[in-house]
Amino acid sequence: MFQKKDLPSVLFLALLILIVILTLCQILVVHRHDQRGYHVSKKEQLIQRKKMYREMIGNHNFRKYKNIAKMEVFRRKIETIITKLNRENNINNSSNITGYNSDINVNAGTITHSTGETGNIVLCDPVPPNLVGEISVQNCDATCRLESRLAVVSGGYWKPKACVSRHHVLIVIPFRDRWRHLTILLHNLVGMLQRQQLEFRILVAEQFGNATFNKGRLMNAAFLEANKRFRFHCAIFHDVDLVPENDRNLYCCPWQPTHLSVAVDEMHYRLKYDLLVGGVLAMTSEHFQLVNGYSNEYWGWGAEDDDMAYRILLSGLRIMRPSAVVARYRMLRHEKREPSTWSSRTKLLKSVNKRFQMDGLVNVPYRLVFSRDQPLFVHMMIDVGRPG
Ligand code: UDP
Ligand code: MN
Repeated sequence: MFQKKDLPSVLFLALLILIVILTLCQILVVHRHDQRGYHVSKKEQLIQRKKMYREMIGNHNFRKYKNIAKMEVFRRKIETIITKLNRENNINNSSNITGYNSDINVNAGTITHSTGETGNIVLCDPVPPNLVGEISVQNCDATCRLESRLAVVSGGYWKPKACVSRHHVLIVIPFRDRWRHLTILLHNLVGMLQRQQLEFRILVAEQFGNATFNKGRLMNAAFLEANKRFRFHCAIFHDVDLVPENDRNLYCCPWQPTHLSVAVDEMHYRLKYDLLVGGVLAMTSEHFQLVNGYSNEYWGWGAEDDDMAYRILLSGLRIMRPSAVVARYRMLRHEKREPSTWSSRTKLLKSVNKRFQMDGLVNVPYRLVFSRDQPLFVHMMIDVGRPG
């Protein structure tokens, strides 16, 4: 058995084993981070965030916030300001939204259309009269016959007959290989848009081929192609898997970029973070061009929306949100997209202020493979290339 003189070597051996175990653990953790880029330690997140702030607010301002605790205070300050601004804007909102229609001048009772016609044009009521509030989302199965709406919508276009809509809206749905979701979304969305008395066009932008998904490029390309063919005041960028649950969440043209998917069932009907603009986002064409659209550089899952949030703020615009009481959505289940790595995402995110004017609508590389009118949407097949 043990002799006393063996003790140091036994201790040394134990220490060695401990070191080996610790190293193995470390390797496992790092490996896990690599595989699922969005799982990083709290400390790492803080370091990344600190770097990002430095980029966003510039070195000069950054010196004022030497340690991370102060940075957190700074972040909270910004978030409080944004929340406050949003609250103020919500109060003034109705007058701005209802008066919005860049093609129609309302002047002391006479209405002049941009085409030059004057006459008895009746604008739709600012508050649509036939809303029902909560909608029970219908999961379309074989009985769900989209063709039944053929009579009212063709090529994804519709406008109210009894009045002139105040809003010409383009709905852009980035898409690939989620036909069941698309069927459910359209089945629930079309009736809601009609009750809201919107003049609308639904555009499904499908990514061609099987390279990694690039949502930003699809949105940019779809916007540019739609601009060539259709007339609209604003675009609503709409994930295919988010189905609205309340028709009082108005899809009208907002005077500031408006994030419409505030409360999602999957997120327990709570906003995940203040700068979130993913899911459903409404922007006027002018504002979308001002921020230079989405970035073209995000491949796979994650962060293209956060990049958009920064573009909005850096362009002096605000992020608005309707009340979470009405801005409710059901998320249809799907497998997660392959995430891009954490490092590539943060690298892009922290350079957004230098990059956003050169990377976006102005330089999106794409090829329109075809554009076909379907009963409920325009189907554009778009080749956006592959990661370089
Ligand atoms: N999308 C798609 N097919 C794909 C990946 C993405 O149609 O293979 C579209 C779809 O509109 C989806 C949106 O891109 O709602 C966002 O992607 P995803 O749902 O994977 O992201 P997450 O909801 O996990 O953020
Ligand atoms: Mn999704």
